Formats: sequence, C-alpha cells, structure tokens
Amino acid sequence: MKLLILSGAVQNLDHGITFMYMKRRLTVFVSLVSCILLTRCHSSMEIARSPSPAVKTEIRPTNVILMIGDGMGLTQITAGMYSNGNHLELERFKSIGFQKSHASNKLVTDSAASATAFACGKKTYNGAVGVGTDSLPIKTLLESAKEHGWATGLVASSSIVHATPACFIAHNKSRKNYEEIAEAFPGSGIDYFVGGGLKFFQNRTKDDRDLCQELRNEGYVIEDYFHQDLNNIKPDPTKPYGFLTANEDPLPVESGRDYLLPATFTGLQHLTARSSKGFFYMVEGSQIDWGGHANNSSYIISELLEFDQIIGKVLDYTETHPSTLVIVTGDHETGGYSILESSSMNNLNTAFTTIGHTADLIPVFAFGPGAEAFQGIYENTAIYDKIMSLMGW
Ligand SMILES: [Zn+2]
Repeated sequence: MKLLILSGAVQNLDHGITFMYMKRRLTVFVSLVSCILLTRCHSSMEIARSPSPAVKTEIRPTNVILMIGDGMGLTQITAGMYSNGNHLELERFKSIGFQKSHASNKLVTDSAASATAFACGKKTYNGAVGVGTDSLPIKTLLESAKEHGWATGLVASSSIVHATPACFIAHNKSRKNYEEIAEAFPGSGIDYFVGGGLKFFQNRTKDDRDLCQELRNEGYVIEDYFHQDLNNIKPDPTKPYGFLTANEDPLPVESGRDYLLPATFTGLQHLTARSSKGFFYMVEGSQIDWGGHANNSSYIISELLEFDQIIGKVLDYTETHPSTLVIVTGDHETGGYSILESSSMNNLNTAFTTIGHTADLIPVFAFGPGAEAFQGIYENTAIYDKIMSLMGW
C-alpha cells in the first residue's frame, strides 16, 4: 500500500513538474507576444492609460438627472424595443451597468425601499420612505443638492407623493401615509414638481391644512389640472413652481395622459434658470410598473415607449448642456415578464409569472461627465454613492 501511494505521489509530482515547465514556457511565449503587441500598439495603450473616472474631478457634472422607470426590467426594455421597430433612445447610452435591487428585509424590493436606496444610499425595509431600518430619517440627494445651492425638481406620472418621488423629499415609516408625505413639500425649498395627488394637499381627511396655500405663502406658483392645461404652462423662473396633474393617480398613456414629456422639458428649462450652480432632477416613468402589476403587455409597452421618448429629449438637452450627467435605471422588475418564442418583430406574445415584483438585476444607463463610474455590477445604494462621490459631497 505504502509503495503504491508513494508511486502515485511521485507520478503526481512528475505531472506537477511537467505542468510547471509547460506553464513557464507558456508564460515566456505570452510575454514575447505581449512585448510585440505593446510596441505596435503604443498609441492605443496610451489611450487606455487615460485617467480613471474617479480621477476626473475636473469634469464634475453640474446637473444630475436621475430617470427611474418604475418596474422597468430588461424584458420591459426589450419589449419596448421590439415593439418599436427594433429601436430605443436608450441605445444612445454607452456606459451601462447592473444594480442589485434587494431590500434590507426582502430579496424582492418594493419601490419605496429601492427609491430610498437611490435617494439616501442605504438599504431599508419595503415601505420605508427616506428612513433607515430604524425608521429614522436619512438625508436625501435632493436635500444635499439644496444645501449646495442647487435647484431641485421631481416629476412623476404617478401621484407626486407616491413611493418613488416621496423618497427624495419626505421621511416616513410608511409609503401609505400620503397626507403626511405631502406635508414634506412646504418648507422643502423644492424648485419644481409635477405629478398627481391634489387630494393629499387639499381637502385632506387627516386635517384641514391646505398645503397648496401654504406653498403659495412661501412664494410658490401652484397650479392644477382643474384650472390649467399643463401643455400651456410657462413657469416664471423667479418663483418655485408646482403642478398637480390629477386628484389622485394620473391616467395611463393609453387613456390619454400626455403630460410627462412637456412637464419634463418645462422642468429642464425652469431648473436651468433657477440656479447658476446646477440642479438635481428626478423624473419617474411611474406606470411601467402598473402595467406589470396588471399583467398587461400593451400597458407596459406604451408607458415604456413614452419614457424612452422623454429619455431621448433629455439626451438632446445634454448636447447644449454637456456638464449634465443623466442616469436611467429601474427600481425593480414587475410581473416576471417574458417574451415567448411565438413572437416576431413588432408582434410580441408575452407571459407573466407574478402580479408582483421580481428580484432581477436591473440595468443602469449613464451619459455625460462621470458616466463611466456606472459601469459594472453593484448594489442599488451605489447609485447614490457614485453621484455623491462625483459631486465631491
Ligand atoms: Zn410595483
């Protein structure tokens, strides 16, 4: 037995020596080839050695636009693209990564935990609005931007107190406390906001406060869908501005909602005029998620294509404002949405595995100064970290 074992050991040792010898020869060969390539590709190596994104502090963005497609996973994007002649404005992005969307207490997140991750840089529990796992407030990106003299704006195709926009401006233990969340708007100093939810500002059930009037007392111009057509508004840049687009939730695109594009564009002009230092602007395509919850493919695709059109207009804006960093991502995937084998271009057959959310990795698209920092795979909280680090805040 001992001899056999010894023999086996020697054999293994012998193989090891042979392997090491071959490995050394391979190393010498690779080094030789590398030397030749290095000499021939000297100029391209110089380009590769240009400063890393972290070092490029001299091209710090002066505007940050964070665009969130609620419930926008890879299949929602794919379905939009293959229903639109195989094209999306999203294809203009070159810096692309993935974020891990899980919440602190659940692998499958909700919109509140993921928006808190983007807004505050901390994982928290599902339902939390701008608070940590201990339910205590955490400073948001919007609040930091305000402290640094930036203008700030929020636009959504949901109610403006719905989970995603709420997490940037409010701090509440529950996303369902809409009237309490609305109370965060007076005193916030936000320069521009557009979304539904008038009933949480006026004619409230909790108290008889009129938050629209309180905002007007602070110098705001506050308008609503009942008295004004948002397509015709021209906010005075010397005053902060808010527009409430519905009493509660705005309509889907398929039912005639058409304000998200003009509201986003008017906001870009308003925020540009409101501060010479820069602005932070969050735009949410809210209802891609609602199409997923309804397991309704045409609802998803119509909302996705509207959001993509707005992304295109925002990218056009950066052509004349090149110091603008644009980040597009989703908060989670909704519906376990998939495109079936029987599909063809512009004619998709789709299926769903759930009426809830899923745990998929979510793509991140970045454009402008610092965009390279968004390549790779990272936690959703890293989006906050990357923005703060690029700003030097
Ligand atoms: Zn949802």
